[in-house]
Amino acid sequence: MHGEIITIGNELVNGRTLDLNAWYAAGRLAACGLTVTRITTVGDHPERAVSLLREALAHSRFVIVTGGLGSTEDDVTSEIVAEALGRPLCRDEEMFELIRGYVTRRGREMTPSLEKMAWVPEGSRMINPRGSACGFSMVENEVLLYFLPGVPDQMRYLMDRFVLPEILEREETLPVMRQRVLKLYGPSEPELAELLKGLSACEAEGAMLGFYPHFPENHITISVRGKDEPSVMGLLGRTEREIRRIMGSCVFASGNDSMEDVVGRGLKEKGLTLATAESCTGGRIGDRITDAAGSSSYFPGGVVAYSNEVKKAFLGVSEKTLQTHGAVSDATAREMARGVKERFGAGIGLSVTGIAGPGGGSRQKPVGTVHIGLASDDVTLSGKYRFWGGRGQVKAQTAMMALDWVRRMLYGYPFLPGV
Ligand code: AMP
Ligand code: MG
Repeated sequence: MHGEIITIGNELVNGRTLDLNAWYAAGRLAACGLTVTRITTVGDHPERAVSLLREALAHSRFVIVTGGLGSTEDDVTSEIVAEALGRPLCRDEEMFELIRGYVTRRGREMTPSLEKMAWVPEGSRMINPRGSACGFSMVENEVLLYFLPGVPDQMRYLMDRFVLPEILEREETLPVMRQRVLKLYGPSEPELAELLKGLSACEAEGAMLGFYPHFPENHITISVRGKDEPSVMGLLGRTEREIRRIMGSCVFASGNDSMEDVVGRGLKEKGLTLATAESCTGGRIGDRITDAAGSSSYFPGGVVAYSNEVKKAFLGVSEKTLQTHGAVSDATAREMARGVKERFGAGIGLSVTGIAGPGGGSRQKPVGTVHIGLASDDVTLSGKYRFWGGRGQVKAQTAMMALDWVRRMLYGYPFLPGV
């Protein structure tokens, strides 16, 4: 079943607000195997919105509209619908009472502008509200129409709880739907394009693929719909195997697993502990490791060694190394990794040192230059990367790459190439 999304709001077309609702709705619909043919954003401009809605009605089986349901003057979605469909506005008593109850519980007065939210086009059905946020839906010429609040949290709640289940229920297609998410780190865009080509056979069989950049990761969802569980799971498994064959060790997790979960599991399996020495990430790696429940069994701790003094005093990095190679160097990264491994009595020492920017770069060591060090009982390794973006992006990529180094070391995969 195909449909479209319309987001309404001046703040969306003047660049003040990023359209999170279209992004969310499209992702959820695609993940359920539904096709979105068009996403349109329009300002709070009744005439344009009316013609958009009429067009959508002529072409789609479902239409999801967000925004313009609030109590302020510019929120005119109900009027737009009334005009586009020729349905007069009537006060929905249930909605009115809900709004009044919500307002009274907070010790506020019911005002005409709040009452306005209960005036909806004739034949509308209220979608379960949360707080004072109500959505409404209707069927017009067999097209399912949903009108949801603009506030992303409220919109998501109604989308997941009511809209998606209802659309799926109406869909007269195959009954079994299964989905899997694969998480990738490292492949470039051309490599992902290659991946797409390699999956055409699976797509021809009916596997639906969604690609989502999830900085600094890439996520791929595989959705399969079919008549029974074995055939659906069979195609899902074949598609996953094909992706893993093409992308190899770049696939680091599936489902709800994160990189830190995978690393934690690997450390437990091998009976190893990990200690961290972080410079440019300022503790972000430790923060991520401790996001995994039970991390105390393999993470004794780490040092945020931002200054040269701390690198020397707490990690034993030598003055000579710092003088000769600088703090951002392979030699320093290796000494940091060895130092933290020894001082914490850990099986593995992991270190990062780099230039997060925006200042501090030079011709030899531009902003984004990062060295990663890894020390085990047997070897001490280091590698140099050049990450792009602002400070936050460099820190995020550094933390991710450092954790990926541990994963790759644990499972014997080659490290991603650096510079
Ligand atoms: P509205 O339902 O139009 O009154 O929207 C309420 C608030 O939700 C707006 O002030 C925006 O901050 C936010 N909002 C509305 N539409 C979107 C959207 N498509 N994406 C993200 N935020 C939105
Ligand atoms: Mg608005």
